[in-house]
Amino acid sequence: MTLRYPATDVSAAMCFGVNSLDRMSERRDDTALIHSLRRDGAAKALLFAGDLLVMHTGGGALFSRADAESLGADWESATFLGVGDEGPLFGATIPESELIDTKTLRNVAIDKDLPLGLMGPAAQASALLRWHRTHQFCGRCGNRTTLGQAGYKRDCPSCGAQHFPRTDPVVIMVAIDGERCLLGRRAGMPFYSSLAGFMEPGETIEAAVRREIWEEAGIRTGRVLYYASQPWPFPTNLMIGCFAEATSFEIDPRDLELEDVRWFDRAELPEMIKGGNPPFAIPGEYSIAHQLIKAYAAHGAPILG
Ligand SMILES: [Zn+2]
Repeated sequence: MTLRYPATDVSAAMCFGVNSLDRMSERRDDTALIHSLRRDGAAKALLFAGDLLVMHTGGGALFSRADAESLGADWESATFLGVGDEGPLFGATIPESELIDTKTLRNVAIDKDLPLGLMGPAAQASALLRWHRTHQFCGRCGNRTTLGQAGYKRDCPSCGAQHFPRTDPVVIMVAIDGERCLLGRRAGMPFYSSLAGFMEPGETIEAAVRREIWEEAGIRTGRVLYYASQPWPFPTNLMIGCFAEATSFEIDPRDLELEDVRWFDRAELPEMIKGGNPPFAIPGEYSIAHQLIKAYAAHGAPILG
């Protein structure tokens, strides 16, 4: 049994990965164009109050300009997300209030409140709007920054610095030894999951995968295979999903990040994927962790080398 390199774009089918907007990134400096898109009668916005997505009372999360402004959105500074089949889409922040319905994106994903095609734009908006909230001032000189490129840049009029939205890469991986794989559980979590950790500056994806598995499990790994990626808006991560071939087998964690880490037989996984008997379960299907474990359970060790 072998996990063949996916013929389709697995990432593009994942929750938060489905995003068919034309971002028009090469035209964001065209202020006349952005101005006309803001005035398009079909334009809609996803609204956030802090990190929470604003929902209509009856369901849905797309707001017209009039509705967004009535809730306190500044339409002229709304971040341009792109143009979809139904028109231009923006992201905007509104003041927090007890009068509005809000929900974390994680719970929206778990409860499947929105069509999958809106989860990617929602992740995009969440990350961008959070960046605006936390980068009001220049990191070089401390003066107030101004909005540029329809929300994809902040300029410092004082020192001329240009600031761009950040994405933080995280490696998330399943170490494999033939018919068994390595999963870990954080304290208090009702499931076992793939190991994960932030990439560090100056590090390759492969080196980060090997380092994190070593730190969290004391297992050495050799070859690494990239599988898929997922925007992960908690708050601004890109999960880079990989498989790694174990070359040592005795578990001996170097840090205390996980409460337990152990080998699971591939035959145990289908029951865990179904929900199992917590904590012998895995994360929800909206997560790349779920998709990695499911792919290994279905196809076995990947072709490496
Ligand atoms: Zn500055």
